[in-house]
Amino acid sequence: MRKKIIAGNWKMNKTPSEAVALINELKPLVKNDDVDVVFCVPDIDIIPAVEACKGTNIAIGAENLYFEESGAYTGEISPNMLTDAGVKYVIIGHSERREYFAETDETVNKRTLAALAAGLKPIVCVGELKWERQCNITEEVIARQIKLDLWDVTAEQVKNVVIAYEPVWAIGTGLTATPDQAQEVCAFIRAQLAKKYDQATADAVTIQYGGSMNAGNAAELLAQPDIDGGLIGGASLKAADFNTIVQAAVEG
Ligand code: PEP
Repeated sequence: MRKKIIAGNWKMNKTPSEAVALINELKPLVKNDDVDVVFCVPDIDIIPAVEACKGTNIAIGAENLYFEESGAYTGEISPNMLTDAGVKYVIIGHSERREYFAETDETVNKRTLAALAAGLKPIVCVGELKWERQCNITEEVIARQIKLDLWDVTAEQVKNVVIAYEPVWAIGTGLTATPDQAQEVCAFIRAQLAKKYDQATADAVTIQYGGSMNAGNAAELLAQPDIDGGLIGGASLKAADFNTIVQAAVEG
């Protein structure tokens, strides 16, 4: 049985004091042992967020990292800086980073390897564009991303990788993949992992769905056999909605 992971991606939202206020609102609501809860927050919020989550079941994640340990990389943050601050997870290759910040499968792979080497759990985002789905090449796109993004990741390491299937057309658009569509691609991802590694390894990997998951549609998505959690943007900024999603995961 894979334990579900519900992760919020706050994106570029919440000042440090707003972050602490939201965490304090969420802490008593999402308290449980059945689901892992993660808040991926802007870098400036990491230290107060880690402090506010001490002694709870909530882990803090970052939204990105750079793959070098230190040096002349103005504006970047390294894996060791994140672990030293108490960060456990890091989102890698989010479609917004791929679209606006020139992230490629090659840099996603470098970041994934660097995160794993530092002991962080990378949440590696994959997903097709609307046009690619219309052209019926979703599986080709996903297979390529899995192959390139996880290049040189060993079977032992991949058990610490979370894969987030995030169809790009569903992110922040209010359009959600149907449970069948999401399940189909998540099962395909698992099959790719089984091909690359073996079935037992593939069965150990957490695969999330992300893309306009909300309080209304979470239960049906999270009930799918290959969907082991969610990566949630907009709805993670509202305590009641995020909590409804966590409770759906507890029950699903
Ligand atoms: C995301 O940013 O990863 C995401 C899934 O956003 P939203 O839930 O707002 O679509």
